[in-house]
Amino acid sequence: MRQRIWSILLAVALLAGCSTVHEEPAAPSKSAASDEALVQFSLIAALAAGDYMGGASLQEVLASGDFGIGTFDGLDGEMIVLDGKMYQAMSDGSVQPCKLEGSTPFAVVTNFQQEGQPLALIAATLEDLDGQLDRKLPRRNSPYAIRIDGTFPEIVLRSVPAQVAPFRPLTEVVKHQTTWRHKDIGGTLVGIRCPAWVGTLNVPGYHWHFLSADRKIGGHVLGCQVKDATLVYDECDSLVIRIPTSEGFDEFDHGQIKQQDINKIERERN
Ligand SMILES: [Zn+2]
Repeated sequence: MRQRIWSILLAVALLAGCSTVHEEPAAPSKSAASDEALVQFSLIAALAAGDYMGGASLQEVLASGDFGIGTFDGLDGEMIVLDGKMYQAMSDGSVQPCKLEGSTPFAVVTNFQQEGQPLALIAATLEDLDGQLDRKLPRRNSPYAIRIDGTFPEIVLRSVPAQVAPFRPLTEVVKHQTTWRHKDIGGTLVGIRCPAWVGTLNVPGYHWHFLSADRKIGGHVLGCQVKDATLVYDECDSLVIRIPTSEGFDEFDHGQIKQQDINKIERERN
């Protein structure tokens, strides 16, 4: 009997508790990501496998961050997002401001909030730059957005031509990439560093795109020298992956993409 009374009291207490829960404000919507999140649209592995059909709209990408990199529907050039504006580096090496009407099969952006003081930087090669940053950035296992403004005595850029279906894998497409070497050019390196744990979801290590100060030259960076430059960075506290619902994405087989494929696509020169 005593046990029954306790059960009733417990039920009353729970009901009272429920009524207070219901008075609380509604939970935040599921789309609310931290301002410090690195937000990526699709996976680099899906892009590597040849899923070049646009998923997210370009406006959606810009709504998720004011700084970042990516590509466009049909692999039509290299994307640079800087100071809240989106630029398209075409396969002829020219850059145009993006009209934001299209979509993207892969992009990664964040809201850039500079941490700490700007640091002066000089680097002899891209590998030297990456090595210096490994020592300067506070955490090995956190993603970073990195901005370097300066003069580049030499920079090697690539862009890729738009593709038509049936799509070849990106490892094949980059064999036909066009590269350019520019001398003594002012501009900005827009970089994302992902920790090794991203595997083939994104690019482990550094992924750099470049935009010239006059906004006329840009692309994916394969090599560079850096002089009189300023480095600022933003550490991201989370990684948000927006998953496409397209047929192309659903057909992609993650098992077919190896880590060395990602390396080939992002770092190798012809
Ligand atoms: Zn790139």
